[in-house]
Amino acid sequence: MVIFERQRAILSRTAVANEGKIHLGWMYASDPSLATARTMIEGALAFAPFLRRHLGADIDGITTSAPAAYVVHRDSQRSAMQVRNYFAEVHRLIVAASAARPHAYFGRDLSVAPREWSTGERMAAFDPSKAVAVFDTPEIAIDPVQLAGRVGEAVSLHPRIELRLCHEVASVSGEPAQTVITTEGGERERRQQFAHVVNALWEGRLAIDETAGLAPGRPWLHRLKYGISFRWPASLPRSPSATFVSGPFGELVSYPDLTTYLTWYASCVKDMTRALVPPEWPTSPMEPMRSEIVRDTITALSSVVHAVAAIDMTSLTEVRVKGGPIVAWGETDIDDPASELHRRYEIGVHSKGQYHSVDPGKLTMAPYFAEQCASRIVASA
Ligand SMILES: Cc1cc2nc3c(=O)[nH]c(=O)nc-3n(C[C@H](O)[C@H](O)[C@H](O)COP(=O)(O)OP(=O)(O)OC[C@H]3O[C@@H](n4cnc5c(N)ncnc54)[C@H](O)[C@@H]3O)c2cc1C
Repeated sequence: MVIFERQRAILSRTAVANEGKIHLGWMYASDPSLATARTMIEGALAFAPFLRRHLGADIDGITTSAPAAYVVHRDSQRSAMQVRNYFAEVHRLIVAASAARPHAYFGRDLSVAPREWSTGERMAAFDPSKAVAVFDTPEIAIDPVQLAGRVGEAVSLHPRIELRLCHEVASVSGEPAQTVITTEGGERERRQQFAHVVNALWEGRLAIDETAGLAPGRPWLHRLKYGISFRWPASLPRSPSATFVSGPFGELVSYPDLTTYLTWYASCVKDMTRALVPPEWPTSPMEPMRSEIVRDTITALSSVVHAVAAIDMTSLTEVRVKGGPIVAWGETDIDDPASELHRRYEIGVHSKGQYHSVDPGKLTMAPYFAEQCASRIVASA
């Protein structure tokens, strides 16, 4: 197998710039059909078993976060009652899907229903006028940087995988044996034939699909989103991991080693395009944008989360700002309750002959669709 990567290293772009949440569906109350929740649950239950198969016990060494409390924001597109009812349905789906594989989600017990916090608990952690309901969930995040490191190492040591770094795929054509045209160092053009081609290029995917004769046939959005991480000051009480729903809000992910990850939609989404190919957005933003993201994100979360309000921004250490494109079907942004961005189930593997295009939709879904794609290729051999 040959992997073409235009960067100097694989897993150096969105793979290391995400929040690492392994979604169990709680986030998607704005898809009351539950189709997104069902999709995420399947992906989440396939995630750790896939990594264990390919990384072995190494997966146990990757840091995972404290489980997320889901917080219904005062300006949520779904009321607290709607979220409460949605959570009951999601819990029912999780219990049914995990019954035959009780340890699949990082060994965690998924049978416990989300617990709603008392008013006293809610007031102690959040501004109760903005956090109108809070639910404990078992959803965790996995440190994306450590994960990318372990997967990258396993790929580069694999005797049957050849890595071609700094190789940009320009187009794919021809059937049944596909012809891949690559450009090397922006100069030399090379054509090569493969029995199967898998397009897993994320923000580069739609452009290559078009050269292979697969048109998207619907509107899409590329959004550039950043997030910040830092070491939580050891002297301050920590915040629980918290995800705010439903709409353009954000989250806080707390890792046991004090690494803390924050995003707030209005301060972290910095660009958006309907172009087939988005600009090559920088993984780390330049100044003054970098400092603005840190300031505005902490300020936004400070207004809701008491523990964040206690932070002195000037003394934070190990502050990093990283981000990347979010690729999704949709025409309007998530402040529109009817936006397709609230539904993430129309993703997966689309094959045309021996050409397979994989839209993982989320990190959560990548192993699940990788298996599906591999099975298709094996079945056709
Ligand atoms: C800020 C942010 C937070 C997120 N948080 C979460 C989260 O908490 N949970 C979750 O499940 N998902 C999350 N996501 C989504 C998740 O990060 C992505 O779904 C996932 O990383 C996509 O993986 P990928 O391997 O498809 O893409 P990538 O990791 O971006 O890999 C694609 C690779 O293809 C290469 N490439 C592109 N075009 C070409 C070309 N023409 N030729 C050669 N190489 C090319 C790129 O250089 C890149 O290395 C988040 C995304 C962002 C931006």
